[in-house]
Amino acid sequence: MTQKQQSQGTQKISNYIMMIIFIVLLLSVVSIILAVSVYLNGVSTPSQAGTDDLTAGFLTVIGLIAMGMSMFTLYQSRKQAVEMKIEVPKVMTTIECKKCGTKTVREFQRGDYVYKDLDACPKCPDTKQLITAIYKDIKEKEKTYNF
Ligand SMILES: [Zn+2]
Repeated sequence: MTQKQQSQGTQKISNYIMMIIFIVLLLSVVSIILAVSVYLNGVSTPSQAGTDDLTAGFLTVIGLIAMGMSMFTLYQSRKQAVEMKIEVPKVMTTIECKKCGTKTVREFQRGDYVYKDLDACPKCPDTKQLITAIYKDIKEKEKTYNF
């Protein structure tokens, strides 16, 4: 299994995403701070009165959008990280002997279907084994957030 390599790769991607989120978040904070300072102090000359409010509003909107986007990306990447930790579910086939009730579970094979007759039971040679269930074997791994 390449489980170790896979999780390392996931972590690398997460760090990369985290860096981008951090930069966007930093920029959004900077633009909001700028917006506040523009609103309080003003940058334009008195003849351009009114532009300050517009600039401040514009910066606030940019800041909020950037912050929202980074939060959304953070949420999405977390969700993705959790999903990536779930192993690809294996499809399992349950085989049962009608006579002695011996249950065998093996991986799904092409051509398997429920109620399909299989080879004879090892205990009772005159009875054919039957597929009684086909299901996905989902094993969820521990949910960890290692960025
Ligand atoms: Zn049997």
